[in-house]
Amino acid sequence: MDEKIISRVDLMKICKDVIDKGNTLLTPGAADYYVVKDISDIILDTSALPSKISHKSYVFPRTEPVLYYKRSKNDVQLIDINIDSKKIVILGAKPCDANSINIMKHLFNWDHSDEFFNKRANNFMVIGLMCSHFDEYCFCTSVRSSPVSEKGSDLFLIPVDINNYALKIITEKGKEFISPYSGYLKPGDEKNSKLITENVRQPEAAFDSSEVYEWLGENFESPKWEGVGNLCLSCAQCAFVCSVCHCFDITDEDYSYTEGRRMKNWDGCQFGNFTLHASGHNPRDIQSKRYRQRVNHKFRYYVDRFGEILCTGCGRCSRGCPVSIDIKEIVSNCNDNQKEFLK
Ligand code: SF4
Ligand code: SF4
Repeated sequence: MDEKIISRVDLMKICKDVIDKGNTLLTPGAADYYVVKDISDIILDTSALPSKISHKSYVFPRTEPVLYYKRSKNDVQLIDINIDSKKIVILGAKPCDANSINIMKHLFNWDHSDEFFNKRANNFMVIGLMCSHFDEYCFCTSVRSSPVSEKGSDLFLIPVDINNYALKIITEKGKEFISPYSGYLKPGDEKNSKLITENVRQPEAAFDSSEVYEWLGENFESPKWEGVGNLCLSCAQCAFVCSVCHCFDITDEDYSYTEGRRMKNWDGCQFGNFTLHASGHNPRDIQSKRYRQRVNHKFRYYVDRFGEILCTGCGRCSRGCPVSIDIKEIVSNCNDNQKEFLK
């Protein structure tokens, strides 16, 4: 891995060039990731909390057509969609967000390769930024990450003083992106940036994810799910703000008797009708079963299938929950039960 020094002024020149070339430059704000139109809007604050909503919709839109159709008496004509292939540079992604596309890639390339997701994911360039602040909802260090994790970033920034960043070149994609701007780069000092990252305050690990994994496998019918099930409103806010929740459904929308479009829309496993069968039977008919599914999917099933935890520890779902359900607390509780269970 190569490390350089870049001044904030020169970094902004690169950002301007990205915009001038017609690419999309995204950066996190307090509420959402936003498209930068003017570089004076860029903040790059290591002490900001994760935005309320993740950048997920730029790679996996809330709703999108996957094909159009035309029906005639004896035929159905299918019309392909042109997938938007614009390059998206995401500047200042927090480490908990930077790896989310990689985590979702497993699902979107499992039994079917989703060209919509893949085309956008391949066009993403992630410039991660070290994080220096956490609140009571953050738990990246419990899910195999940290405020200085470079996982998922193509380039990674560490502020070394008020005007300069250490710029780590992590991937080939990052190297390719930065090479036209090599005139802005000065030799780096790895010892200095290491010292900075080693001294960053990190959230204390709240649970051991492998103990949680074990507990979930042994306690599918635990009465503990009832407590959270009674509280949860089934609003699925938690799924919609999450950077790695990826449930969707497919619906056909007819414009007329002869024309329509097939839509892919976000869905959420906390909705009561998510698993409702056409027969009227619903295997997850009460909220406790749906919340149990959420935790099992993230901390057990996804690990079984892809070797990854389906959670980055960003804490968004808990910060925004209207009834203050805190996933960190729920999962830590599973861990405490596991410890008791092992006694
Ligand atoms: S945001 Fe809270 S209340 Fe809404 S579905 Fe999620 S856990 Fe339940
Ligand atoms: S489940 Fe919650 S804490 Fe985990 S990645 Fe999703 S929003 Fe963040």
